[in-house]
Amino acid sequence: MQLRLAGAEMAARIEKLNSLLTPCRLCPHRCMVDRRQGERGRCGVGAVARVASFGPHFGEEPPLVGRRGSGTVFFSGCNLSCVFCQNYSISQLGEGRQMDAAELAAVFVELGRRGCHNINLVTPTHQAPMIVSALALAQEAGLRLPIVWNCGGFESPEVLRLLDGIVDIYMPDAKYGDDAAAAHYSGGPGYATNLEAVLREMHRQVGDLVVEEGIARSGMLIRHLVLPGGIAASDRVFAAIASLLGRETYLNVMRQYRPCYRASEYPELARRLQPSEYAEAADCARGFGFQQGLPGFENGT
Ligand code: SF4
Repeated sequence: MQLRLAGAEMAARIEKLNSLLTPCRLCPHRCMVDRRQGERGRCGVGAVARVASFGPHFGEEPPLVGRRGSGTVFFSGCNLSCVFCQNYSISQLGEGRQMDAAELAAVFVELGRRGCHNINLVTPTHQAPMIVSALALAQEAGLRLPIVWNCGGFESPEVLRLLDGIVDIYMPDAKYGDDAAAAHYSGGPGYATNLEAVLREMHRQVGDLVVEEGIARSGMLIRHLVLPGGIAASDRVFAAIASLLGRETYLNVMRQYRPCYRASEYPELARRLQPSEYAEAADCARGFGFQQGLPGFENGT
């Protein structure tokens, strides 16, 4: 079922995505900047794809990694600005280089040639038009792998609808259950409220995770990073997922928080997560009936 769209319908989607780039409404920030004319919004990226690195990755969830790795492409910039970001040199400081559609398509094809089980697009939201254009070229060149949309969860439902039939696996973060915390620590006003529409649309398209012979083929995986002091409002995140999508959802409750980037400026975030805090969050998730991805499964970037 990979890359089911092609031809005229794919071209129409690309055209529509490009129209959302200028003025930019690709994510809930709706910066309305003209990225084609060199203006930059919150994500800091223009109208050409910008890539930090790519290659087979073995640190993702087991159904993505299999034996030959997940074909991961790390995109530069981000529409969120988490003060504790572990990848801040890429997401906040712009590390990476520009790639036109042909070059990016060649990267996707090369990852396929190297035997990766999927194409894993990390932080793709703000580069959606460029990525889909490159996917169309890669498809013409013979790429037939599941496409993974590995995003921060601060998405535009309108953009997601344009990815229907293009993305096979959605892997959003569900970072916060509290809008104020999301605005304060990640520059994502309305994140928790918006997340509900995001999860619904993703699930409508691809449903629960489908794994065949140990490899993810389609569906959703959700990640939640537990933050110190209950800042992420994990209980509300789990409640929302349980009520919107059900307990069959593959949920990865992650424990690897450590104070990175600007976390030292926030005393409440300037320490590691205590084991008891993680245990409490994991118990809470189990209490909602989640099993896939639990317990104690904490892989992932
Ligand atoms: S994708 Fe970037 S420029 Fe566009 S609305 Fe989002 S943050 Fe602003």
